[in-house]
Amino acid sequence: MEATMKCETEIEQTTLQTALSCRAISLSVAPLCNLQCNFCHHQCDCANEGIAGKVSPALQPTLALDYLGEMIQLHPDISELRISGPGEPFANPEETLETLRMVRAKYPQLKISIITNGLDLVPHIPALIRLSVRKVTIAIHTFDPHIGAKLYAWVRDRKTNTPLIGLRGAGLLIQQQQEAIHLLKEKDIAIEVNTIVMTGINDAHIPALTQQLRGLSIDAMTCLPLIPQKGAHFEEMEETDASTLITARQHAGAFVSQLEPLTNPANIFLESDALLEKYSDQSAAATSRMCIAIASIDGLGINQNLGHAPRFLLFAPEPDSPSGYAFQEVRPAPPVGGGMQRWEQLAEILGDCRAVIASAIGEEPRNVLTRKNIRVYEMDEVPVHLALKTVFGAEAVPRRKNKREGCSGKGGGCGGSGC
Ligand code: SF4
Repeated sequence: MEATMKCETEIEQTTLQTALSCRAISLSVAPLCNLQCNFCHHQCDCANEGIAGKVSPALQPTLALDYLGEMIQLHPDISELRISGPGEPFANPEETLETLRMVRAKYPQLKISIITNGLDLVPHIPALIRLSVRKVTIAIHTFDPHIGAKLYAWVRDRKTNTPLIGLRGAGLLIQQQQEAIHLLKEKDIAIEVNTIVMTGINDAHIPALTQQLRGLSIDAMTCLPLIPQKGAHFEEMEETDASTLITARQHAGAFVSQLEPLTNPANIFLESDALLEKYSDQSAAATSRMCIAIASIDGLGINQNLGHAPRFLLFAPEPDSPSGYAFQEVRPAPPVGGGMQRWEQLAEILGDCRAVIASAIGEEPRNVLTRKNIRVYEMDEVPVHLALKTVFGAEAVPRRKNKREGCSGKGGGCGGSGC
């Protein structure tokens, strides 16, 4: 099985040597996030990792371990593991810690690091110490709540399970990041900081931020450019230009040692798309995810796009039925037009489904559902019995008869977030 280097095509010749000696692997087991950065649309991997536009599935912990095992067989000299996204590891602490426990038990020699936004990290620091986590990378873009209020749409307060906005949300995050740094330093865990430099938002704040980071004895820092994500609140912002980034790095370098994102081996990982796909499929099948949800106006054909469906019809395998499956229930969908919120709620509502079939499915919901290991199938005007037979039986997907108009990915019914 071919393993590929994530960054091989992007990096310059001078950094290729670093990539080729890369013996690190990244595992993604956390589908959710506990806050909303305005530069992120929750449809790709966490933007704080510095790799734009990648969509990774969140694997079940046991399957993540199996994936790691196969990768180690292919590359016996893998020596480092990073736990990252695709959401936030501590928004999904059970999955994250279960993975860490299994990895530590089976591969005691692996160096383990975690990348996090720092929210909800503090309660889990004792567990990280017990599991000999070597390094924590925290995404910190500001320590000024007024700047943070521009950066974060909301920050969930774990104690009350409510999203805080404005200064309260930013203040909670900053306070928890600083508390986590103090505790990690006390325990001698190395701390790196990833900072996205955003022109007009936090670029002028970088010297003050790094001065504070130095006071907290941060080990190293990586300044990253903002790469606008389609659909994010900051999608219209300019990508951070080279001179702004260089200036930020120079200012920051006066206080904290700087890492180059693409030459830093911590940002270059071995991976295998084929193996990830295999374990992503198994993640969906290994749970009680046996149902298939369909978007249908009349129950006869697949004739509704995902963005317009007010409810889904759920079917499950039924060995005693002649067709091999049986209707289970009607499941209401979140309000139509809710944009990204609709897709995330839908992924929760259909969490026991292994697949969704609709006449059209936009890129954004496709990514959100895929991240939750829910397979998506587009079949337009295909009879329901044939669509279900196809997906339950894993037969070839029938070709779409025609492409519906009005599914531009920005339609009103889609809430501006695709179909
Ligand atoms: S912490 Fe990461 S996943 Fe969460 S909103 Fe920010 S960039 Fe997106």
